[in-house]
Amino acid sequence: MPRGEDICDLLVIGGGINGCGVARDAAGRGLSVTLAEMSDLASATSSASTKLFHGGLRYLEYFEFRLVRESLIERETLLRAMPHISWPMRFVLPYHKDMRFESDTPTYKLLNTLMPWMRGRRPAWLIRLGLFLYDNLGGRKILPGTATLDLTDAPEGAPLQDRFTKAYEYSDCWVEDSRLVVLNARDAEARGARILTRTQVMSAEQSEGLWQVTLKDTGSGQTRVVRARMIVNAGGPWVGELIRDAIHARSTDDVRLVRGSHIVTRRLFDHDKCYFFQGTDGRIMFAIPYETDFTLIGTTDQEHADPDEKPVCTPQEQAYMVDFVNAYLKQKISLDDIVWTYSGVRPLYDDGSSSATAATRDYTLKVDRSAGAPVVNIFGGKITTYRRLAEGVLDLVGKEMGALQGKWTAGVPLPGGDFKVAEVEAMIADLARLYPFLGPVWARRLIRAYGTDARLILGNVSDAAALGRDFGATLTRAEVDWLMDREYARTADDVLWRRSKLGLRMTPHQAETLDEYMRLRHAESISAAAE
Ligand SMILES: Cc1cc2nc3c(=O)[nH]c(=O)nc-3n(C[C@H](O)[C@H](O)[C@H](O)COP(=O)(O)OP(=O)(O)OC[C@H]3O[C@@H](n4cnc5c(N)ncnc54)[C@H](O)[C@@H]3O)c2cc1C
Repeated sequence: MPRGEDICDLLVIGGGINGCGVARDAAGRGLSVTLAEMSDLASATSSASTKLFHGGLRYLEYFEFRLVRESLIERETLLRAMPHISWPMRFVLPYHKDMRFESDTPTYKLLNTLMPWMRGRRPAWLIRLGLFLYDNLGGRKILPGTATLDLTDAPEGAPLQDRFTKAYEYSDCWVEDSRLVVLNARDAEARGARILTRTQVMSAEQSEGLWQVTLKDTGSGQTRVVRARMIVNAGGPWVGELIRDAIHARSTDDVRLVRGSHIVTRRLFDHDKCYFFQGTDGRIMFAIPYETDFTLIGTTDQEHADPDEKPVCTPQEQAYMVDFVNAYLKQKISLDDIVWTYSGVRPLYDDGSSSATAATRDYTLKVDRSAGAPVVNIFGGKITTYRRLAEGVLDLVGKEMGALQGKWTAGVPLPGGDFKVAEVEAMIADLARLYPFLGPVWARRLIRAYGTDARLILGNVSDAAALGRDFGATLTRAEVDWLMDREYARTADDVLWRRSKLGLRMTPHQAETLDEYMRLRHAESISAAAE
């Protein structure tokens, strides 16, 4: 039987980046918001991205100028609001005359008509034109522009085969995707939103103009009903399933699920720049310095039929990525060099494109009233556009509910991000000075994860022992307790693979010990609350 009832303005389904971004924006405009996430925050696509705030250089070939321009402008807005979890990166694009277009890009079709003798090759002048647009389409103030590199001389040429003699270098930004989600959720909660994790939306029915939404606590199995004036369906890969099976809307819009996988190897090169490799099949592949000691390689585009089928990086995808980078690297890698893989599903708007690579990466927002009360369905989108997407959703909410307070999120830092981009190194040095037992590596990790909140976690301690039990890889009880109390973490996986990537450095036994500690602590907090 449903237990209890309450009413809110917005019920947001899904605690990925889009759901949490909408919840934060809406709460900041004074709306009452409940967000329900059936698993952990960022447990689906939003922890499985390539982790770039980027304009999307390759989308230029698909003439996605709106998306690229919005994303380019947005990169620096986001970087300023979260200088702890995001940072500028330089991308090195080695040039070789055999690089080809994918055959269904509009640019390929155009060039094939005008210059058939190119036979699908991507000429250097076109790359330069793309980079010129990339530099100039959208408000670049912090990030440096494009440069040309002589690979026979530059250190970036050292790991590459000798046939690569020239490269272009351009800027984008890195972001810790799953921390981005959690910080949005925290800020939403600080502004009055209710964030319910491990809470599944089972059904939504309209009654007297309000939604009656049945929520299930996935731990206890208990259900309850929440009433809401509007629903925002940010279910990511499940958006279509929610429309059909939970909301029972007659919408014809659908999602196209495209899986993308990554492999992680030990560090493959010494410098801190990324490679942007072009393939002879028209696709591209990034090789990115990752978590200090590793290299992240991705991604793929594979059709994925069912959102409930857990995405995994298949042996074929692993081999494809290994072969792809081996066409560039001097020191070839093998499948044995892979230390971790992950995979996620892009919830793209089904625009009828022929290939998964060509399906639009832009977002589409649709208001549907066919089930009685209004729901906004979110399709597609990038991590990079989540804040603008949230503003778009709030515009639609305003049309349904009457005028809302204005846009506010540009320029407002996320928790821990209240400092300048240029100050990060000084912050790391300050933390290491204040807490000498941390050393530079641990201090860097804490500032990069928590920014100014790092000091709140460490408190007034003078040695590592005062931070409580050491779970390994610099993870202490003080940090785990913070993550459980302030960042919705419940299991070791939440901590080791989403709030951090310490899973790369821990043994299975250490992970089990952490899980046991968290389980006990959670059980104690439940019984304390029941008393
Ligand atoms: C391989 C790959 C690489 C990418 N790289 C980049 C990149 O570098 N830069 C970039 O900008 N973008 C990138 N993206 C795109 C970006 O990751 C996604 O667009 C974004 O994460 C989608 O977020 P979301 O909130 O819509 O979906 P999700 O993160 O999937 O969130 C949806 C949530 O809804 C929850 N949910 C579903 N049904 C229910 C229910 N019934 N009740 C409660 N909760 C429910 C799910 O558990 C899930 O957590 C990449 C995507 C992929 C797959």
